[in-house]
Amino acid sequence: MKKVSLKTIYLVALSAVFAVSFLMFVLFDLQSQQRQTEAAMLEEARTFAREMDAVWQFMDNSQPVINTTTDGIYEFKGLHCSRVGKSVGALFSKGSDYTIRYTNFNPRNLQDEPDAFETKALEKFNADAAVTEHYGVTDFQGIERFRYAQALEVDKSCLECHGEPAGEIDITGKAKEGWTLDSVGGAISIVIPLDQQQQAMRDNVVRDVAYFLFITLLIGAVVYAVTTFFVFRPLDRMKLAFADMGEGRLAVSLDDAHAAREISRLIERFNSTAAELHTMYDHLEEQVESRTDELRKANAALERQRDTLERLNVELAKETQFKSDLLSMVNHELRTPLTSIITFAQISREACPPDRASERHSWEEIEKNSQILLAMINDMLDIARSDAGSIRTACEPMDLGDIVSSVRGTMTPLAQKYDVAFCTRVASDVPLVNGDFEKTQRMLENLASNAIKFTPDGGTVELRVDVGEGGVRLRMIDDGIGIAPEDHERIFERFFQVDSTSTRKYNGSGLGLALVREYAAVQGFSVSVESELGQGSTFTITIPSDAIVG
Ligand code: ADP
Repeated sequence: MKKVSLKTIYLVALSAVFAVSFLMFVLFDLQSQQRQTEAAMLEEARTFAREMDAVWQFMDNSQPVINTTTDGIYEFKGLHCSRVGKSVGALFSKGSDYTIRYTNFNPRNLQDEPDAFETKALEKFNADAAVTEHYGVTDFQGIERFRYAQALEVDKSCLECHGEPAGEIDITGKAKEGWTLDSVGGAISIVIPLDQQQQAMRDNVVRDVAYFLFITLLIGAVVYAVTTFFVFRPLDRMKLAFADMGEGRLAVSLDDAHAAREISRLIERFNSTAAELHTMYDHLEEQVESRTDELRKANAALERQRDTLERLNVELAKETQFKSDLLSMVNHELRTPLTSIITFAQISREACPPDRASERHSWEEIEKNSQILLAMINDMLDIARSDAGSIRTACEPMDLGDIVSSVRGTMTPLAQKYDVAFCTRVASDVPLVNGDFEKTQRMLENLASNAIKFTPDGGTVELRVDVGEGGVRLRMIDDGIGIAPEDHERIFERFFQVDSTSTRKYNGSGLGLALVREYAAVQGFSVSVESELGQGSTFTITIPSDAIVG
């Protein structure tokens, strides 16, 4: 909805108040002027009536004088009060717009017959003796006039000519009407022209209206000027100042010199808000600048870090390349000759005659240590492959019985060498499982070689496979030196070896169990240990039920 301006509302309200009060004033003034005019004419008519009454009275009182000759003889001259009164009225009326006459029902002269207004007045007087006047503005001979009728009281003097008995001939030669003192002796009827009064009334109304218009317009103009000066102008200035602020010019301050108190307070509030905003904005700019500076610095630091990282990346790539070269070198340059050494040592050992025990022993040592070296190299290569993410895992059905046989084949000679009994047991209900044959075999070989290694002479190591809670269990159980509970987790870390003199005498790289856990993880298996120092150890590989074939 479109908003109407305060100025428009103000002007419309002022105009409405002005129009309503103007209308009310005109109506009120017209009525008041009419009432005043009527009152003035009534007073005028009454004066005429009193005048006529006075003439009447005078003539009545003067009858003895008029009708007595100088000789003192009564001689009726015919100048009785009725005739003189009527004649004075007729004479008065003749030269002016006024009419003064006598009227009554059944008058002695036909010209005194009452008209409609007079008839009504006479009827009222006859009906109620208390009513002695009747007046109003009404039509007279086609023109609006003020008309007035006053009842004529009958007194004793009237009865001489008009009293009882009715029909008797009075002194004027006319028949008496038979009136009593209670009768209404007719009415004096007065007609007063309205022109002058109406003109005066119109003049008055015009003057009053003009005065009213002048005063109200003056008041309106003063009110409008005052409001404009003290309210609208400061508001307009505030509007402009707000627009300035909207465009970002916050350094605005309004002058409240000519504002009303309320507007002045508003301006004060506006000025303080603008000042606060200005300060805040400045502060904000500073903050933005300092943040931008910080960001710039952080960006520069990041840039430097990126450069460092790029440098490191290059170095890392070089190192990776070096590692990979080293691995392939180790793979080719160490394993190949080691395998040859082992083979030649075996051949030489077997070819050694029984009487040369010391030479045979030397070949055995060479073979044993070369085997250890080869195992260590294999472990390291596997770990390196795992780090490089290049371990490939097969997932195919495998018979755990076959794996166990294979492990038994590899481990039995070692066990014999360490004088440890190595036995295997596979439960008849063990199903085929999905997994990587080679890796499972390596895991079991690592566990078995550890178990043999850490079991004193005459001890026992058993590989047991059965179906238990959570899937198929492959357990390597020994009655060797055992592991302290605090080391149960750490033995799976790379290069960790239980640091005690008793274990340090055993050779190894500390990578075997780490590889077992990694091989288990890539196949979805889990590995755990239960052991106590001096009580032997049980390592369990659990193959989950969902890996069971079928
Ligand atoms: P290592 O090459 O030293 O055998 P492993 O990772 O295979 O490395 O084993 C880590 C350590 O865990 C071993 O050095 C040993 O202290 C301990 N350990 C492993 N298996 C056994 C076990 N069956 N009995 C006692 N200690 C064991």
